[in-house]
Amino acid sequence: MIPVAEPSLGKEERLNLLKAFDSGWISSKGSFLGEFEKSFSGYMGVDFGVATVNGTSALHLALTALGVGKGDEVLVPSLTFVSTANVVAYTGAKPVFVDSHPGYWCIDPEKIEGKITENTKAIIPVHLYGHPCDMDAINDIAHDHNLYVIEDAAEAHGAEYKNRKLGSFGDVSCFSFYGNKIITTGEGGMCLTNNEELDERMRILRDHGTNPSKHYWCDVTGFNYRMTNLQAAIGCAQIEKLDEFIEKKRENTALYNKLLEDAQGITPPPEEKWAKNVYWMYSILIEKEYGKTRDQLINHLKENGIESRPFFPPTHKLPMYDKGETIKIAEELSKKGINLPSSVNLTSKEIKYVAETIKAAC
Ligand SMILES: *Cc1c(COP(=O)(O)O)cnc(C)c1O
Repeated sequence: MIPVAEPSLGKEERLNLLKAFDSGWISSKGSFLGEFEKSFSGYMGVDFGVATVNGTSALHLALTALGVGKGDEVLVPSLTFVSTANVVAYTGAKPVFVDSHPGYWCIDPEKIEGKITENTKAIIPVHLYGHPCDMDAINDIAHDHNLYVIEDAAEAHGAEYKNRKLGSFGDVSCFSFYGNKIITTGEGGMCLTNNEELDERMRILRDHGTNPSKHYWCDVTGFNYRMTNLQAAIGCAQIEKLDEFIEKKRENTALYNKLLEDAQGITPPPEEKWAKNVYWMYSILIEKEYGKTRDQLINHLKENGIESRPFFPPTHKLPMYDKGETIKIAEELSKKGINLPSSVNLTSKEIKYVAETIKAAC
């Protein structure tokens, strides 16, 4: 089976991991942690990094540090991984779902203002499948309505908006290092911010809310969201390879695009003029003209030893969030979208086989 995504781990990761193990610092203290926070935030051009157990906890930490809670509303795209909405619910606030842009699939800035109420506190733009959101448009709206902006960059390490890396466009940005993400630490996440005060608040909340100058004294209810030194050791090796991984993902995309160019009814992944897409997942839309449905194609691929994934379901249709709302573009994209094998280790032979299988099925 050709998998949708598998991590690329080498001897550098292994060596770092053993170093951390042999040092005895296997919990959430140790030299790799600070090093990983520094190298990752430095790569993104942001001052501070707070490493966490996973991307979900990073988002939750950011919202909590910003004071989002009961009675607040937070705007999120409907088309995203469920975690983006769940973290809002964890705080006691209400996720409010916004439609997607039909061209580049991320939250549509034109659909945002209609969802703002006097209770709206923040907005979480998600850089979906590696493509950036239109951050200028989003930040203008946030500025006009006094909203916090938290970038969900879990799928977009190294992607660029107007030639600048994502991660510094909001008050906080959050990344994931899950096994299928662009770089991985097994499980893991990080919050980035240029705001020193916010950095400190997130550090305290990450560590049970413990006052840094008083043992076991907590002034607030915090969490244990600390990353381990073992995870950070792997992360330190992975960040060195991020440029290479992005280059490879872009090459894979170019090859897929070329091979599928003449296929009917296939919309290739977007890349707006102002964007550098890192193609976390090589994602296409299966249109009517293709002749088979998206789900038929998924089965066909599976029968031929190729794993693929449907796009995320629209979050507003999940039982815990379903209020009978229709969010048109998100629902359409969700029905038509498919993620194809996207690992950096994919060979051109494998890509050709996937493309041929797709063309033969229509
Ligand atoms: C993966 C992902 C997350 C959550 O990250 P975890 O590390 O799995 O907790 C959040 N948002 C988006 C858009 C993601 O793709």
